[in-house]
Amino acid sequence: MTTSEELFNRAKNLMPGGVNSPVRAFGSVGGTPRFMVSAEGPYLHDADGRDYVDLVGSWGPMLLGHKHPAVQDAVHAAVDKGLSFGTSTPDESALAELVMQRFGGVDRLRMVSTGTEATMTAVRLARGYTGRDLIVKFAGCYHGHLDSLLASAGSGVATLALPGSAGVTAATAGETLVVPYNDPEAVTEVFSEYGDRIAAIITESAPANMGVVTPGEGFNKFLLDTAHAHGALLIVDEVLTGFRASDAGYWGLSGRVEDWTPDLYTFGKVIGGGLPTAGLGGRAEVMDYLAPTGPVYQAGTLSGNPIAMAAGVATLTHATAEVYAHIDALSLELQEAVSAALNAEGVDHSIQTAGNLFSVAFGTSQHGVKNYADAQAQDAYRYAPFFHSMLESGVYLAPSVFEAWFLSAAHDDVAMERVYEALPAAARAAASAQPA
Ligand SMILES: *Cc1c(COP(=O)(O)O)cnc(C)c1O
Repeated sequence: MTTSEELFNRAKNLMPGGVNSPVRAFGSVGGTPRFMVSAEGPYLHDADGRDYVDLVGSWGPMLLGHKHPAVQDAVHAAVDKGLSFGTSTPDESALAELVMQRFGGVDRLRMVSTGTEATMTAVRLARGYTGRDLIVKFAGCYHGHLDSLLASAGSGVATLALPGSAGVTAATAGETLVVPYNDPEAVTEVFSEYGDRIAAIITESAPANMGVVTPGEGFNKFLLDTAHAHGALLIVDEVLTGFRASDAGYWGLSGRVEDWTPDLYTFGKVIGGGLPTAGLGGRAEVMDYLAPTGPVYQAGTLSGNPIAMAAGVATLTHATAEVYAHIDALSLELQEAVSAALNAEGVDHSIQTAGNLFSVAFGTSQHGVKNYADAQAQDAYRYAPFFHSMLESGVYLAPSVFEAWFLSAAHDDVAMERVYEALPAAARAAASAQPA
């Protein structure tokens, strides 16, 4: 028995499914999750002494790679000053300024601890500001695990093929209107029926939790205009894409180019550089509806935690133009290598992109993936053997076909060479996979 197997057996008796976040359990790919004990640069090290080129990056945060010296130093220095004060600290403003330098239309920022909290607060704020109840979300978009946004959600909800979640009341589910992604007519229709009751549309800036999906040209701007025409707000969820798809997230490739800003953004993942921090920001008029200036309550014992702020400030400070250029170039190279390996084995697929984020969708070459129905209709059974072949070759992909591939500033030629060498065998495994 491997050490990971022993550890997983122990964990299964201690935690539901042996994990603290569902997709980590390897449910959709089978086999035993690898227990990691350390990480450095582009590598993860498991409890059995094996190392892996990491293409998950803690599900997004590790933009600079693991144990980036400047981030480690900043965190060590912060730890030496104490762990939490429950007061305002200078770094909260430093991090807010770094966010505002990158994203247009962020007049105010509120830090929270998780992406879920950020979207939960954004939804409450939109309701408080507009005095309306209904929220429009897109099928396959994931916004964390708040009750009202679990309907037709991506990420683990998609991986586990759940329609939503037990434990969400019918009343709550009834306040969320789910429409297909990339379908302007469906959005127009839902607004013509419920327009005066809709508080906000929430959308991933570019969906990356049903695999990656490219927003149609002008789609986000259309959402903004439609929302505003009906007195509703647009919440752009940049938790995954923020500081990743470009220096200013996917907004940097859409809103910044097209000259518009949403009412609210949500941020997470990269903003904390691996520590639990997230935030929401936007127009002052809306954000000032939050307590203590406004009537919408929101608070957090560990919000703006000084260690997390230090990690966030160091990460964003070192996320330079060179870092994005490096990741963009590597991403293109890797996309081409994956495609070439799959083509060599005759495996039908498409590569879905949003800036440097991408994912592979099997059996979708004809139409690509435009929405959740397309994502679900793919030949997902090809992923498990592909994933396990890569894992055996020392490459750690996300244990679900519905996740993006994440690169970092630390991925160098040596690490990428291992990935490229692993691809032909993985493509062969995908080619010989049979539907269950
Ligand atoms: C990860 C994610 C969230 C939730 O963030 P947590 O920190 O896991 O709560 C919300 N929205 C998007 C788009 C995400 O990818």
